[in-house]
Order: sequence, then C-alpha cells, then structure tokens
Amino acid sequence: MRDLLIVGNWKMHGNTIMISELVDEIIDGLDASSSCNLLLCSPFPYLGLVSQRIINSPISLGAQNLSQHTSGPYTGEVSAEMLKDMGCEYVIVGHSERRELMGETNKIIANKFITAIKSHLKPILCIGESLDERKQGMTTSVISDQLNTVLNEIDSNDLSNAVIAYEPVWAIGTGLTATPDEAQDVHAHIRAEINKSSKKVAENIQILYGGSVNGNNAGSLFSMPDIDGGLIGGASLTSLEFLSIAKATNK
Ligand code: PEP
Repeated sequence: MRDLLIVGNWKMHGNTIMISELVDEIIDGLDASSSCNLLLCSPFPYLGLVSQRIINSPISLGAQNLSQHTSGPYTGEVSAEMLKDMGCEYVIVGHSERRELMGETNKIIANKFITAIKSHLKPILCIGESLDERKQGMTTSVISDQLNTVLNEIDSNDLSNAVIAYEPVWAIGTGLTATPDEAQDVHAHIRAEINKSSKKVAENIQILYGGSVNGNNAGSLFSMPDIDGGLIGGASLTSLEFLSIAKATNK
C-alpha cells in the first residue's frame, strides 16, 4: 500500500505576509485523521520562512527547481546542498513550464535528477504530453521518452527515492483535467515502464497526477489504483481548496 502525497507548487506567487498566512491556515486546518503526506514547494526566497513555520507540523518542504551543478560560478543558480541546508526534502524537476519556457531538455532534467539524488533530495520528476501529442496518439511514447532519458542514466534503486508526477501539459493551469480513466491509463503505463527495471520500485513508487486538480475533482482522481496523490498548482494558493484536496485522499 503506497502513502498518498499532496504537493503544493506555488510557482512564482506570494510574498512574506501571504505565504506566512497560507502556511499557518493549512497547519490549523489539518485534519488529524487525514492519512496523506503534505509537501509545500515554495519559491526560493521563502524556503527559510516556510521551513520555520512548519516545525512541529506534519508538512514537508520542497523547492521548485535546482541547479544541475553542485557548486561554482553559476550566477543566479541554487544548488541541491543549499536546498538541503534550508530544510528541503524534495525538489520538483522537469516541470513543463521549465521545459517550455526555460528550454530545459530531457538531458538537463536527467542531470538535475541525478544531482538531487546524490544530495539525498527526493526529486519529483514531472512528465507529460502536449495537446498536439495527445491528439496524434503519441501520449505513451512521449511519456516513455521523458521517463527513459532519466532511467537510462540512473540505477533503478535511485528511483526508490523519487516521485513521478504525470502532468499533461494541456491540463496545467487551464481548468481542463484528464478524466480519472485517462490519467489512470498513463499512470499504469508509467508503472509498467518502471517495472521493466525493477518490480519492487514500480510497486512502491508514488505517481502523482497534476493538472487543474481542485476540491471537486480530486476524490475521483485519487480513487484510481495507480494515482498516489497530486501535484497542485493554482489550488494550492488557497488554504481551503488545498485542504479540501488533502481531505479527498481518504480512499
Ligand atoms: C502545476 O503547476 O504543476 C499544476 C498542476 O498547476 P495547476 O494545478 O494550476 O494546473
């Protein structure tokens, strides 16, 4: 039985007051009976603030990106060790916004994934097809390519310290969501791909769904057998909505 994980990805939103209030409201609203794990991925400047506020709560801290390099003359970059130093346990790698807007290739993403693993940060590897690719029936081949670029570079055991997020690009921030059956099909495909390297890792790895998840659609998505929680963008910026998604994990 895999634990469910709900991840808030605040992207480039918030300020000191807004983030302090949001974290406090989430902690206050947490249901002691809730079985899922919660993770908040803050913008870099607020990692220290969130890290302080979640002390003594069941919430974990994550970052939204990291450098593929370990240290050195890389102005503006943030290393895995710096993230660890700020209290991060997780880091998002390969979000579609970084692939599309910052030109991150599968190779760069594989490097970032390896850098995170080497520093004992858990990478959340995002993969997903565009609308055109889905229309052309290329979903599973795109997913396999994105996944295998990373799998080919690592030992399959390294995956046991990672999370996968299936995020169809057409569903991110659009209000469109994959149906539970559509998402389940892709999640099962991802698990089958991982199973080729390791049955044990495939059985245990958490595969999250992301793409316009909200309090209304979360329950039906999380009820699917291969969906182990969600990567939540817009809806993670409102405590009530985020908490209602967390409550929907009671499968
Ligand atoms: C995301 O940013 O990973 C995401 C899924 O965003 P949204 O929930 O807003 O679609």
